[in-house]
Amino acid sequence: MNITWNNSIAGSDSLHRALDASQKAVAGKSWTPQVVTNLTSAFIDNPAVAAISNFSCKYFFSYFQPLFDYIAPISGINGHRTFSLIPLFLEKFLGEYIFYPSATSGMAKTHKYKGAVEGVYNKLKADNAELLNAKTKENPDGYNYQVSVVQSNTVNAFACPAGGMVVYSGIVSELKSALKTTKFADITLKDGSKIQVDLSGVTLNDALAALMGHEMTHVASRHGMGKMFANLTFFGLFKGISYFAISHLKKNNKEYQQLQAKESRSREENNRIYNIERGYENINYLADRIFSIVRTLLSLHHSRSCEYEADVAGIHLAHESGYNPLGAIFLEQVLSDLSCGAIIPEILLTHPLGEHRKLSALAAIDQIAPLQLNGKITVSSEAAATSPFFKHLKQKYFLA
Ligand SMILES: [Zn+2]
Repeated sequence: MNITWNNSIAGSDSLHRALDASQKAVAGKSWTPQVVTNLTSAFIDNPAVAAISNFSCKYFFSYFQPLFDYIAPISGINGHRTFSLIPLFLEKFLGEYIFYPSATSGMAKTHKYKGAVEGVYNKLKADNAELLNAKTKENPDGYNYQVSVVQSNTVNAFACPAGGMVVYSGIVSELKSALKTTKFADITLKDGSKIQVDLSGVTLNDALAALMGHEMTHVASRHGMGKMFANLTFFGLFKGISYFAISHLKKNNKEYQQLQAKESRSREENNRIYNIERGYENINYLADRIFSIVRTLLSLHHSRSCEYEADVAGIHLAHESGYNPLGAIFLEQVLSDLSCGAIIPEILLTHPLGEHRKLSALAAIDQIAPLQLNGKITVSSEAAATSPFFKHLKQKYFLA
């Protein structure tokens, strides 16, 4: 169960169900240490903890709500509170600092794809105004969403904090030419069973809607700021802990304290002090290295979960605007075809593997727009199918 204090955005229930379904579908595929999963479920899924927090939210929390709204605003996208102490003016300033130079680099003012991209973007923005711009006291005007199509062969798009988005023409031409060749997506499940999705009905606009929906979610969910905040917090925490740990060790080192207290020291004694201090420096250095590896892995994990959220919410936004949500699976298929089978394990990637993203997207579409899957998927099972998701799809789309 998720602890949610307030969820005022209409129509987001199916989005929340889709986020859950996407997580379940890729569970065990995306990297999360088992101990973290166990701890989370012991605490979060514990009915007693849930009851206490719901009680305190109802009778106690209301006094502190304005404070919490400031330090941990509710995400309109996933309905959860996310800690972020980075004030909005700073987010907007950083966003513009990144956006304007990249939005105007080497571009013709009117790129041939500008109309297509902006058309889709404007529609998504108009049809999903409430979800994309949860206006708060701190953010009365909402975000300043804007998109720029930049001439480049780079197959990419990205979102800056507070609303600026850049789409390179390379990704649009890649999607356009793939429409002729990419008619199916194959997804292999954990148990070896296979799902094939028919993509023949997908148009360029459907794929662009998935792309823009993804980027707009990064903005609305403040993913960039979340990453920055988490990194800064971890860094500060670690520096604090290691400072106190080393001072504690020094304080309890009798020999070191005695030598330090001496008014005059022999050469040997000075060397001894130097060696002891160097030992502590080495401990500090080693801890620093270990910590930086842990921090990198955690931040990559966080980054991947932001990508899943952006994919799923992007599907929701596209569907609300009447686009075919299968555009998201098409987009993932095209991008994973281009990466030619990654040889780097997912644990070291900022983005989840294409295979996992297709699976997550399929689980989300099954919640958000099941009618779009009618007649579009075929399943085959080589081994005895054990995956609950496979069984569910088979039952829902083939036996019903
Ligand atoms: Zn992304």
